[in-house]
Amino acid sequence: APGLYIVATPIGNLGDLTPRAAEVLARADVIAVEDSRVTAKLLHHIGVKRPMTPYHDHNAEGVRPGLVARMGSEVVALVSDAGTPLISDPGYKLVRDARAAGHLVVTVPGPCAAVAALTLAGLPTDRFLFLGFLPPKAGARATAIAEVAAVRATLILYESGPRLAVTLTALAERLGDREAGVAREITKRFEECVTGTLTELAARYADAPPKGEIVVIVAPPGEVVIETSEDDIDAALVEAMTRL
Ligand code: SAM
Repeated sequence: APGLYIVATPIGNLGDLTPRAAEVLARADVIAVEDSRVTAKLLHHIGVKRPMTPYHDHNAEGVRPGLVARMGSEVVALVSDAGTPLISDPGYKLVRDARAAGHLVVTVPGPCAAVAALTLAGLPTDRFLFLGFLPPKAGARATAIAEVAAVRATLILYESGPRLAVTLTALAERLGDREAGVAREITKRFEECVTGTLTELAARYADAPPKGEIVVIVAPPGEVVIETSEDDIDAALVEAMTRL
């Protein structure tokens, strides 16, 4: 059916493209892409050729109305270079406008580096806060960290190799020396997740900025205890059922 399809793509391992994602891409009338070279490789991998049109921060305002108009009669797919569109990537305004115009909006879920990293770190997963990329400037970054210092949730951040050590140090200064994990090159050949306290990790990476793509996971404040045990979840379910 015509409409907007939000299609998640692999974050490094082409095997992670879901069959449904491949199906939607194969029958899309147009695919809105961040970088056509990146998406062309993915399409080549599944043996399809579909028209692509650029959709990124610099042209989104201008091309959005045209894309929304096409959704009335065509299958418009949105992808980003890797992972789930809209997550530290463009797209939410396209979804907003598609909804406002009354078009069908469908999600085709799949890989997302933030969630993948959370599953690797061994830190509590019952509550988490995704911060995306912190501001690059020291002052704004310190403010952004201070704002979340009291939040009782595991924090998830995207970061680049060259900035990693500085960010870990800034996190330790404002949050205290919490347990953390640095997940790198997830689903790729050199996937790893190094855990330790924020200062241990900052020291480790200070002189050796890591290569590749990185997600930082930081434990909630206080002792790292998993607050919701599976027994608690079972008890809550039983209670909810008896109330029905
Ligand atoms: N929309 C994407 C998603 O769903 O994960 C994220 C896009 S954001 C522009 C790119 C950032 O995601 C990278 O700088 C890195 O922090 C993180 N990332 C993407 N792929 C990754 C991978 N394979 N391993 C670790 N981090 C990754």
